Amino acid sequence: MEEFARPTVEVNTYKKANTLKAKVLETKILYRENDDNDVRHIVLDAQAMNYVDGQSVGVIPPGLNEKGNPHAVRLYSVASLASRMPGSENLMLCVKRSNAVDPASGVKYLGVASNYLCDAKVGDEITLTGPAGRKFLLPVAGDIDRPYVFIATGTGIAPFRGFLQRLFKHTPEFKSPVFLLFGVKTQAELLYNDEFSEYKQANFHYFKALSREMKNPSGGRYYVGDLIREHGEKLWPAIGNERGIIFMCGLKGMEEGVSNAINELAKAHGAGDNYYQSIEHRVVEEVY
Ligand SMILES: Cc1cc2nc3c(=O)[nH]c(=O)nc-3n(C[C@H](O)[C@H](O)[C@H](O)COP(=O)(O)OP(=O)(O)OC[C@H]3O[C@@H](n4cnc5c(N)ncnc54)[C@H](O)[C@@H]3O)c2cc1C
Repeated sequence: MEEFARPTVEVNTYKKANTLKAKVLETKILYRENDDNDVRHIVLDAQAMNYVDGQSVGVIPPGLNEKGNPHAVRLYSVASLASRMPGSENLMLCVKRSNAVDPASGVKYLGVASNYLCDAKVGDEITLTGPAGRKFLLPVAGDIDRPYVFIATGTGIAPFRGFLQRLFKHTPEFKSPVFLLFGVKTQAELLYNDEFSEYKQANFHYFKALSREMKNPSGGRYYVGDLIREHGEKLWPAIGNERGIIFMCGLKGMEEGVSNAINELAKAHGAGDNYYQSIEHRVVEEVY
């Protein structure tokens, strides 16, 4: 089966040897549990870059790594509209501080780029590369009116913020159903929840999985796969539709729960075994 047609986009206009310095225009906390666990919405002046919603940008933290070399590029999804679209604002990122404690030694390791970004102040200059990515893109404008299932965990919500703005605020002819399935641990971690709750379109369906606050029918933690089970009857017309596209973004490992739940749903609708594997041409995954 052929994949859907995506727009032609610029990639790697800015590279390590030719970076873009982007000023921080705004930074605000979206969620904060403690000093090691917060998520920020960061607005950058990067209109010089021709990026599209769904792509990522690279961030090069200042300084050198433990080997004395410049730090590697870390990617962050664009959490806003394409830079050259009418109505587009500045480049927005949604960044989670990534700190880990080695359970054996108790040593705390601070994620280099995420701490740099989360600690950046208004006026600081961030070194960017990119844009990156040709796959995680909505179809070409003439073919955009399709059913969508957007599945996110954590900061994987970032690209869907731009997608939803594009479909519901900048594509007047858009009529197809959009399902947003968002998985986090607690209600407080539902990034951009107020904004998504503002979409009152009848074709928008917003379902939340709170793994620490909801239980699945077996009494276990409730994940995005459980949303697919619970809302299967509503989702099947989109998932089982050859024009429907499933976008998934977030924590590595989420694919298994999602593919299992979709396979169960498909089987219950007589679509056979391993359905998920048969629709790879209309499933787009970005996990990290
Ligand atoms: C396509 C793509 C899009 C992405 N989009 C986003 C996004 O929108 N938002 C977002 O927040 N992230 C996103 N990421 C993840 C992001 O690129 C970084 O991987 C993440 O922020 C961690 O980078 P860091 O430099 O802070 O951590 P690093 O310094 O790379 O460290 C990674 C992790 O390892 C731990 N660690 C480091 N050294 C050790 C050690 N010796 N022992 C044990 N643990 C150690 C750190 O604490 C940290 O948790 C994306 C990734 C990809 C590939």
